[in-house]
Amino acid sequence: MLVVMKTQATPEEIQAVCDYIEQLGFRAHPLPGAQRTAIGITGNKGEVERGNIEALSGVAEVIRVSKPYKLASRDVKEEDTIIRFPGTDAAIGGRNIAVIAGPCSIESREQAFAIAEKVAASGAQFFRGGAYKPRTSPYAFQGLGLEALRIMADIRSRFGLRIVTEAIDSESLVLVAEWADVVQIGARNMQNFSLLKKAGKLRKPVLIKRGLSATLEEFLMAAEYVMSEGNYEVILCERGVRTFTDHTRNTLDLSIIPAVQRTSHLPILVDPSHGTGRRDSVLPMARAGIAAGADGIIVEVHDHPEKALSDGPQSLYPEQFATMMDELEQIAPVVGRNLPRGIQVEAVRA
Ligand code: PEP
Ligand code: MN
Repeated sequence: MLVVMKTQATPEEIQAVCDYIEQLGFRAHPLPGAQRTAIGITGNKGEVERGNIEALSGVAEVIRVSKPYKLASRDVKEEDTIIRFPGTDAAIGGRNIAVIAGPCSIESREQAFAIAEKVAASGAQFFRGGAYKPRTSPYAFQGLGLEALRIMADIRSRFGLRIVTEAIDSESLVLVAEWADVVQIGARNMQNFSLLKKAGKLRKPVLIKRGLSATLEEFLMAAEYVMSEGNYEVILCERGVRTFTDHTRNTLDLSIIPAVQRTSHLPILVDPSHGTGRRDSVLPMARAGIAAGADGIIVEVHDHPEKALSDGPQSLYPEQFATMMDELEQIAPVVGRNLPRGIQVEAVRA
């Protein structure tokens, strides 16, 4: 159910409606919009007695939301969600294209800093790097863990880049939330519902990668899990799905971009690295992703991909990343967007 407040409803009236909903044993999710505030109701098994709510002061109407995803749905929030990073001009969603770049895994301080310097010089605003790696083989490199989180925090201090890194379980979630700016939930965990709920208790943006065979509805339901716990800062990411193709590692399903934008207000990024698995396909698919209307790109970059401990074959050389930025900057205005080059960080006052 969705309670639509009148345009002129006061903060007190909004609060009173939330209190009433919570008293009934449900959860109230106030969703401020440009024109008016809406309040999502979750936790109800059946229909909520709408008459009593409609009678409350400041309420315009009470609507039934028929979709299984409620808070993630555009029916509940019409305006696009924009996620901002306090103290910086960076944002995910909105007019600006977000670029998240860096190695698949943090392998050493030297490796991470060398790559961060290059991607920052090309104008990325976000740095990615795995500290905890979900690997197909238990014998493959599993990540440096906390040491990698510390390295990335130093990269943020040095270059201003905001940090995106994956949490693979409850333990790493706590650490990633403490050290990073965006918590990534990987494709293999997209339906790890207990992890999603825990991510929903955080007050940090959560980037959810589409599962290897997830439908649009399953993808949005993963977002709903996070939002149902009160964390509304969710970013979706298309990273390729399993098909019969043998020319790429996965099939990057760019057609999900307009589908997500039709049904949800959440930002959607494209990962052309995992989406193709091939360096030579990354740039064309990054261009296509932005042309298709994605809110940004997450891309793997390595200065010595032949020596990379994970995903070397799909990692761009830093020079290729620079070219990608130049090309995306040209494509962005064609689709009414802008690619900012570099991040502005407010000086911290002593
Ligand atoms: C990654 O970003 O390095 C990663 C493991 O992604 P995914 O979960 O999409 O495979
Ligand atoms: Mn990877």
